Amino acid sequence: MNSRERMAAAMEGREVDRAPMLFFRHFFGDSGDNCVKWHVDWIKSSGMDGLIVQYDTIVGLPIENKTDSIEDFKHLTLPKRTDPWVFDQIDRAKRIQEQIGDETAVFGLLYTAFNMVRKTMHNFTDMEMLDMWREHKQVVKDATDWAQECNMMLLDLYKEAGVFGTLISFRRNHKTFTFSDEEFAEEMLPYDRDVLAHANELFDNHNVMHICGDIGPNGLEPWLGVDYRTVQWDLHVEEIDSLAKGRAFFKPGTTLMGGFNHQLGSPIYTDDKEQLKADVKKIVADAGGQRNFILSADCSVKQPFDDERYHWMREALEEDAAGA
Ligand SMILES: [Zn+2]
Repeated sequence: MNSRERMAAAMEGREVDRAPMLFFRHFFGDSGDNCVKWHVDWIKSSGMDGLIVQYDTIVGLPIENKTDSIEDFKHLTLPKRTDPWVFDQIDRAKRIQEQIGDETAVFGLLYTAFNMVRKTMHNFTDMEMLDMWREHKQVVKDATDWAQECNMMLLDLYKEAGVFGTLISFRRNHKTFTFSDEEFAEEMLPYDRDVLAHANELFDNHNVMHICGDIGPNGLEPWLGVDYRTVQWDLHVEEIDSLAKGRAFFKPGTTLMGGFNHQLGSPIYTDDKEQLKADVKKIVADAGGQRNFILSADCSVKQPFDDERYHWMREALEEDAAGA
């Protein structure tokens, strides 16, 4: 099996020669070529089965900061596909896919509409989304609808670019949009449900529902009703703190993605080779075997990281699959 076939089999619940690995990392800074070379070099040195194309260096939503106020979030129109905000993301994915070939699964990355509005408000104007939601609810709602349209458009363009699937980052734990359970279910969750549904239509369900616990727990219950197939959540902050518990919590046939803690100081950074390989085998056992499973961490792996460690992990998966 090549990596792309392995990833497809894992995400569709079919038999695999070994579970795929899908760790990911950021590429901050400006490499001068829209970060393409960094991604391509990394996939070669890590031997990863799939690649999440990062959103790094592309800032917020394409909103013009004219007044530094909520006024900037009114009367928004969908950007053209030639708009740099759109073009750079798609061009990056397309060129990476072309350069690494079709044997590796390339994933586009999306953030939820309300998280994008939150980031944009905060970065551009220092406004906090929850305050604005309270004071100018309709404006924020309209802006979030618009951000969702941008996401839907990006999905269509990722499809055209030939990527394998997407990783969509969901969260509800950021302090600037800590909506009540009722508000979240009514106002925010539909965006998550709809964006994932559209991605599923386009990419044959090859989408990761990433419930981001990088800054703390979300509680996973709100997302049980959306049409997920592959789920990655933070085993080290959420109540569902093992893959075995995840098997029981998520619907039957769900592909679980994760295993390692991504926070600095945890075993993925500190273990020696034998320990790390033993950890992989323990993780696989906790997941109930290598089927319907993708080895990863709770979120992006911090840098610097010695890519040789990924090869040790792959060896452990191969040994485990061979019954060694
Ligand atoms: Zn995350």
